[in-house]
Amino acid sequence: MTGDRFARHALIPGWDQKRLAGATVVLAGAGALGNTVAQTLALSGLGRLVVCDPDTVAVSNLSRCPLFRAADVGRPKARVLAEALTDLAPDTVVDAREAPHLSGAGLAELRAADLVVGALDSRAARIALAGRCTLAGTGMLDGGTHAWGGEVSWFPPGGRCWACGLGPAERAVQDDPWSCAAPDPAGAVGASAPVSALVGTWLADFAVRLLLGLSVPDAPLRIDAAGLAVPLSGTAPRDRPDPDCPLHERLPDGVPVLPLDHGATVAELLDHVDMGEEPLTWAGFSRPVRRRAAVPAVTSRLRSAPASARLSALGVAPREVLPVARRDGSGLRYVELAAKAGEPVGAPGESAQERRATTEGAR
Ligand SMILES: [Zn+2]
Repeated sequence: MTGDRFARHALIPGWDQKRLAGATVVLAGAGALGNTVAQTLALSGLGRLVVCDPDTVAVSNLSRCPLFRAADVGRPKARVLAEALTDLAPDTVVDAREAPHLSGAGLAELRAADLVVGALDSRAARIALAGRCTLAGTGMLDGGTHAWGGEVSWFPPGGRCWACGLGPAERAVQDDPWSCAAPDPAGAVGASAPVSALVGTWLADFAVRLLLGLSVPDAPLRIDAAGLAVPLSGTAPRDRPDPDCPLHERLPDGVPVLPLDHGATVAELLDHVDMGEEPLTWAGFSRPVRRRAAVPAVTSRLRSAPASARLSALGVAPREVLPVARRDGSGLRYVELAAKAGEPVGAPGESAQERRATTEGAR
C-alpha cells in the first residue's frame, strides 16, 4: 500500500500526527461510547490505548457498538475491541484489560497516560475513576448518554473532579455497573445508535483536541432531549475543587518502586514492608472463607489474603500504587509496583499532562 494514511490530517492547522502517535490514552469502558471513542482515536492515529472493561458482549450491544459482531457475543468486550482495532488501525497498540478500571490500570499507568477517558455506566465507577485521576494528577474526560442526548465534561488536573458538587449521600451510592450479559439487567436504560455515536464521537473529538494541546470548552456540554448542544449552567470544571469533596488527595512525589509487578504473590510483597505495616488494595477482595464463617467478608488488607495468592488475582492492577498503612494507625505511605519487562513507563512523579504543560510553558 502506498500513500499516507494521514495525508488529510496534515492539511489541518494545529494537527500533529507525531504527537498523537506518541500519546497514550486509558479508556474506562468498552461499551457503546467506548467503542466509538476507541474507533475514532485509533483512526486518528493514537499511539497506544489501554482499555478496561470486565463485561462480555451481549446481543443488545450489537445495535450500538460498531466494533462488535454477532460472533463476538459472550466474549470479553475489551479483547474484542482490541482485535477489531488491530484490523482497522494496525499502528495503534491496544492493551485490553478484562477488568474494571480499578483493577485494570494502576495509578502509575494513569499518571503516565496523556489522558483518561471515562465511558462508564455507573456513578460509583465514575467517582472511583475521578478519585484515581486526582491521585495520579491526570485529567479526566467523561461522557454519558441518556435517552435522547448526553453529556461530555473535561476535568483538568488540579480542578474540580466529577464528584465535586455531589453530596455525601450521592457519593456513597453503590450503583455497581450492571452486566450487559445479565438476563434482565436492572440498571439498563434506553440507548440508541445515533446518540451513542454522537456523544462518543464528541468525546473522541475532545480527546484529540486535548492530546494536540488545543482548548476544549470550560463547561460541560449537554445534548438535550431536543437534540440541541448546550453548555451546562453552574460551576465550570476548571474552577477550584469543592472543599467538601474528599477526592483531591494527590500521590506524593518519590514513591518507591518495588522490584516486583502485579503478578507477584502476597508473600513477595510483604517482604518489602515492615511488620508494623499493612499494605492495602484499592479494589478490595473476598477474604478466604473460614470454617463456619457465614459470609466471606470483603477486605482490602493484603495480610488477610493467602500468602501464595497473586496480587493480580486479588484485583491489583498492573503498575498499581498501593497504600501502606501503619498498623498502629500512625500514618500512611505508598509503594509502586514495577512495570513488566517491555511495558512503556512514564517518568515518575509528575503526570504526563503536567510534563507536557511544563515543556510547552518553556517554549
Ligand atoms: Zn472533587
